[in-house]
Amino acid sequence: MERLIRKSLGMLAPRSHLDLAVKFALFCLLIALWHATLRRIGYNDRDTPVSEMLLEATLAGGPFVLLFLFGSWHQVLAIRSLTHRAYQDPLSGVLNRQTFVNRFGRALPRARCGVLLLLDADHFKRINDQYGHSMGDRCIQAIGHRLNWHLREGALVGRIGGEEFAVFIPNVTEEHAKAVATRLGLPVSFTDHQNQIHASVSLSMGGTFIDQSRTIEQHLVDADEALYASKSNGRSQLRFHNREDVILLGSRAVASDDDMKTVRTPDARSRSKMQLISG
Ligand code: GH3
Ligand code: MG
Ligand code: MG
Repeated sequence: MERLIRKSLGMLAPRSHLDLAVKFALFCLLIALWHATLRRIGYNDRDTPVSEMLLEATLAGGPFVLLFLFGSWHQVLAIRSLTHRAYQDPLSGVLNRQTFVNRFGRALPRARCGVLLLLDADHFKRINDQYGHSMGDRCIQAIGHRLNWHLREGALVGRIGGEEFAVFIPNVTEEHAKAVATRLGLPVSFTDHQNQIHASVSLSMGGTFIDQSRTIEQHLVDADEALYASKSNGRSQLRFHNREDVILLGSRAVASDDDMKTVRTPDARSRSKMQLISG
């Protein structure tokens, strides 16, 4: 019943100003016709002209129709925004963990082939420690932006931990999956314009190719093991479960003291511009 009410409300609620005008006219017409029918048949009123009855009903009912339409419009927009917030990670703009896992679970049986990738920023903690939490947040935003930007419709992207992301690309060959993953895993740059800090971080990735005989959990565990192998073998690389090949993901760019150079720019007297130079 509740579902039916929500569905009807969704259908009746206007979607634009034009839709509002059309629905307003339609509702007023319905009220006016109902009013005229009642007067004619119910009260046997043969004297009042139909045009007068229609005008009367429209004037009386119009404000209430308008109130209902604006109210339902507002309600539908609020529900849409809440739903969006419930599914989305607000910082990175990708799906949150729960939604990713649910949607991956639904998409997996329908995929003929494909790849699940886990992606984690290298030595992310050092960014927080050296530049502060807000710079770490910028890094997470930049990774989310990269993933959203590069993936076509049908792919799923979620933030499944602090600086860890998951990507599911359905119906791609191994070759194509590797090419896409390599692009996704290049070092990510991000900037704090206010403090003139520019930094870059390398990413490690682990992946597993889709195989219908395994469960969602097994896919996640296998990708995680591959990510662990990438981390423990030098980071900034992509490895796949049950595959020998290692794909290096660009230069090793980490927020370590050895890799960092401080550059004073002429226009910044008191502030210094930091650059993380890849090692
Ligand atoms: P590794 O290369 O092995 O992945 O090391 P790491 O430093 O990237 O990983 P580690 O797990 O040691 O540290 C992750 C840190 O991420 C710890 C936590 O404080 C931080 N973190 C988690 N969520 C957020 C967030 O939303 N914003 C920021 N700025 N930091 C976060
Ligand atoms: Mg990390
Ligand atoms: Mg991590």
